[in-house]
Amino acid sequence: MRLILVGPPGAGKGTQAARLVAKYNIPQLSTGDMLRAAVAAETPIGLKAKAVMDAGGLVSDDIVVGIIRDRIAEQDALGGFILDGFPRTIAQADALAEMLAGKGLEIDAVIELRVDQTKLVDRIMKRADEARANGQPVRKDDDPEVFKDRLAAYNKDTAVVIPYYEQKGLLTVVDGMQPIDEVSATVEAVLSKLDEVSSSV
Ligand code: AMP
Repeated sequence: MRLILVGPPGAGKGTQAARLVAKYNIPQLSTGDMLRAAVAAETPIGLKAKAVMDAGGLVSDDIVVGIIRDRIAEQDALGGFILDGFPRTIAQADALAEMLAGKGLEIDAVIELRVDQTKLVDRIMKRADEARANGQPVRKDDDPEVFKDRLAAYNKDTAVVIPYYEQKGLLTVVDGMQPIDEVSATVEAVLSKLDEVSSSV
């Protein structure tokens, strides 16, 4: 199964992806996590990406497409993957389609976690409070002001991938404001329907 999770920052993509990893035994590929790891390791990519990420902007398409191209060629991703945080632009979506088509593969489904954006800032502040309470570092981009910039970047750039996948008949919208377990149940229902369709073809 090759799946994309879309939704604004704080919509719960990471949480849902982690659950799908356990259920389908395929990796979650988060460009945000990979970029943060590159920043922490001070790799050349990390050094380039750091300032943009700290400011809540988008890292260049070339960099993230390169990261994904390498990552999906790894052994654990050959049988499928869940993309979280990628693609974020039409150029990335086109590059993804192209790199998969080159291997005779395609995306099976795109799930949009739709949320009330006015409630997201509260949610993100809670995430920062929880991290602090657990003695974990608070992500710099979870600062409310930076978060608002990330939301604006999502609405300006990333939201365009939604009609892109809708046009391709790949999009399913799930209400991300439901409690976490209900979101998971809805996502799993969508995917098991897909499984049925693909196994009946
Ligand atoms: P995330 O954890 O997905 O919210 O990503 C954190 C930050 O990493 C974003 O605010 C961007 O600066 C950068 N980033 C992650 N994925 C991408 C992507 N697909 N394209 C461009 N920048 C990205």
